[in-house]
Amino acid sequence: MKTLILSDIHANLPAFEAVLSDAGSFDRVWCLGDVVGYGPDPNECVALLRQQPGLRCIMGNHDAALMGYIDIHTFNEQAARAVAIQSEMLNTESRDFLELLDIVIEEGDITFAHGSPRDPIWEYIVNSHIARDNFSAYQSRICLIGHTHIPSIFIENPHARPGILTPQHADRWRSEKRFILNPGSVGQPRDHNPKAAYVIWDDEEDTFLFKRVAYDVEAVQERILALGIPSRHATRLSQGI
Ligand code: ZN
Repeated sequence: MKTLILSDIHANLPAFEAVLSDAGSFDRVWCLGDVVGYGPDPNECVALLRQQPGLRCIMGNHDAALMGYIDIHTFNEQAARAVAIQSEMLNTESRDFLELLDIVIEEGDITFAHGSPRDPIWEYIVNSHIARDNFSAYQSRICLIGHTHIPSIFIENPHARPGILTPQHADRWRSEKRFILNPGSVGQPRDHNPKAAYVIWDDEEDTFLFKRVAYDVEAVQERILALGIPSRHATRLSQGI
């Protein structure tokens, strides 16, 4: 079975559509949160995600913020302004979908958490120290996360710090060890590569294939600016930051 693993779509419909067409055939879709926030198409992204086969999706901090579950004053000023604009845009169907999302899912060999297993909404796993402290916070072999918008793998090492990998386009990876994997971001990559990021997991080979795909960044930037969303959320898309 092939699973499309994606995260941080951030209301960027052209990026999401590019991923779906580039991914080829897949049997199910797992989404690691932040479907909305930052970009111009929150409802369209939720609607397209809901159509995907075998969908499992968890809640990210932006999903929670748009639903009013967390105080937007914890966001920086520009992110908070984008949240306020997008929260107004959400239709009933999108609200119904976001409302029912779990914070953490544990299923068989896999745990899903947006930020980290011990602090699913807020913590960023950006280094080996933080990764090490999270291996004891879940039981399964594999933990899938998003939130940093950077494709990465942290491999458990009981005797030292976890090993860190930063996979590039077309890297295919497998491991028998426990690991925390981040597929990167569909709608707002931050690893200095503006292309949308995603992963295909083939559970027969047990391989994780990291992919990138280009989309029409300029069209999204124009629409972000037209909505009055702060310009930084447009300019950063072409820089991948
Ligand atoms: Zn995000």
